[in-house]
Formats: sequence, C-alpha cells, structure tokens
Amino acid sequence: MRLYKLRHPSFALYPKQLRLMTNIIWLQGGACSGNTMSFLNAEEPTVCDLVTDFGIKILWHPSLGLELGDNLQSLLWDCILGKIPLDIFVFEGTVVNAPNGTGEWNRFAHRPMKNWVSDLAKVAKFVVAVGDCASWGGIPAMAPNPTESQGLQFLKRQKGGFLGADYRSQAGVPVINIPGCPAHPDWITQILVAIATGRLDDITLDEFHRPQTFFKTFTQTGCTRNIHFAYKATTAEFGQRKGCLFYDLGCRGPMTHSSCNRILWNRVSSKTRAGMPCLGCTEPEFPFHDLKPGTVFKTQTVMGVPKEIPPGMKKKEYALLTVVAKDAAPDWADEEFFTV
Ligand code: SF4
Ligand code: SF4
Repeated sequence: MRLYKLRHPSFALYPKQLRLMTNIIWLQGGACSGNTMSFLNAEEPTVCDLVTDFGIKILWHPSLGLELGDNLQSLLWDCILGKIPLDIFVFEGTVVNAPNGTGEWNRFAHRPMKNWVSDLAKVAKFVVAVGDCASWGGIPAMAPNPTESQGLQFLKRQKGGFLGADYRSQAGVPVINIPGCPAHPDWITQILVAIATGRLDDITLDEFHRPQTFFKTFTQTGCTRNIHFAYKATTAEFGQRKGCLFYDLGCRGPMTHSSCNRILWNRVSSKTRAGMPCLGCTEPEFPFHDLKPGTVFKTQTVMGVPKEIPPGMKKKEYALLTVVAKDAAPDWADEEFFTV
C-alpha cells in the first residue's frame, strides 16, 4: 500500500506569519449539495470557528458566497491569474465531461465547470475532494455513466480521474480525498484546519488519498453491536435495538474504512447505532453491486455464509466460527439493549 506523508516544502516558502488568512474556494460539479449540507452542520470545529478561530477566509462557496455573475467570474479569474492566492480549492460533486468530453452539461459562470476545475487546480496550494463524487465518481459515475463523470483523481478504484494520476497541487501533494455520501462534517472541517494551521505533517494519506486519521479503522470500530456480531445474533428489521446488522441486512461495517462509530454524527449517534446498516459509502466501489435489485440492505450469501467477510479472514474458518458462535450465544444476545 502506498502511503503519502504530507510534507510540503513549498508551504514553508509561504510562511503562516506572513499569511494571516487561508483562502478557500469551494465549487460544486455534478452534486446533490449533500456535502455542503454536511459541512454547514459541522460541530468540532464549526464553519464559524473556521472563520473566527482558524483564519480561514471562504472566498466563495455555493451556499455562502456573496459574489454573483461578473463579480464571481472576476474573483475566479483573479485566483487563476495569481492576483489572489488560492490556498485550498475544495471540490464537491463529479467532474462532468458530457457530452462527448465537452463538459457543456455542467456550465458555471459562463464556462464548463471542468474548465474552472482544471485552471483552479493548477494554482491551488492544496486541492481537497469532498464526498464520494469528487473523490471517485460516486453514484453519478455508475454504469452507464451518462454524464461521463469522474472524480478528481480517481474513477472508482482506478487512479487517474479528471486531473490525472500524476497531479500534484502547488504544495506538491495529490488531491486529498474526504469520501462519504456525504462526508462526515467534522472530517471536512478538521482537514481544513490542519491545512490552515500548517499541521498537514501530522496527516498520512492511504492508497486512495484518504487521511488515515479518519479512514484507517473500520465503521465497526466502536460499534455498539460488536458483541452481537461475535455471537452471530442478527437484527431482523431496521431500527431494532438488538442484534448485528451484518447477517441479514447487509451491513458493510466490517469492510468499510470510516470513523463513524469513533466520531459520532452530531456527536450523538451513527447509522449502526440507530439500527441502519453501513452502506460502505467511504469506499471507491460505493454504491456496491450498482444498486442491482435484491442487493441493497440484503446480505449476499452462499449456502447461508456471507459472500463478503471481514478482510483478512479465511472463509472456511469464518464459517466454522459462526456456527460455534451461534451455539455459544447467551440468552441475552437476543434481547433488546441500549445501542446509543
Ligand atoms: S452492526 Fe455492522 S458495524 Fe456494527 S457490529 Fe454489526 S456488522 Fe459490525
Ligand atoms: S456508517 Fe457507513 S454508510 Fe454510514 S456514513 Fe459511515 S461509512 Fe458511510
């Protein structure tokens, strides 16, 4: 596995003490605004904290930007021409190339959005892809991909994407991917703070350019249903306060890299705590099986054994383990319990 340690000598040439603000431009391509909604709900830190405590200046954002029309175009061109330093370019949604590679299906400020992406990525010190669509195409890039969508530096698991496999920002690092559908709000704001405060050295990216601090462990890490996973006690319906969602409802918690049960949503809960299976939304293959009928919220099995098992486990031993685990389960494994 290739790991990127985010050392960036050019940031040293751009000393923080001389730069009181960290300028951000956030644009949306083929998107549903879900990541914007998530970002606006961030709590640790909040979007207001970014501005008041961490010196981040949001030059433009689809829901927060003040400039319109000619003023917005001037702002974007000023960044591209180097009149305004662009520290972080955040992109949400896919890069739409249709029809026929022109990008005309997604025009913004009088140009195809993909042209803005290409120009801004060339001058930005850092580029951050927020959400699955910007990271690797997400739902819009499902076959037959009519919008010819790509992620910034990946198309699903394949490296390359719109900017190409060799792309590096002005600071010399690849696109930083914060996947999820949507990405957890605090993953977004905490990475922006790490960049703004010159703490990127603390962050290591995995082979899919995800910060390990959020994506090294699994959704299952910290799930309150782990003991029921071990006893093979199943949850039969959404929202039940008993059992584990792996055996019948298709939970991908053991196979999905995310910190959803370590950094809770709204600091309160997570999908699995609420009785909803993890859909694996932080992985490049999401949505799995291209949403074919019968594959969503349903564990795919062969002779009663889940087709996909936790990574690193051997199938035969796993099958044996689950038989023994079920027999060994105590009576209370089938009772309701506090999941939150
Ligand atoms: S509900 Fe999902 S994440 Fe939680 S223990 Fe079961 S399989 Fe793992
Ligand atoms: S629990 Fe799973 S599907 Fe839900 S946000 Fe986390 S990684 Fe995505």
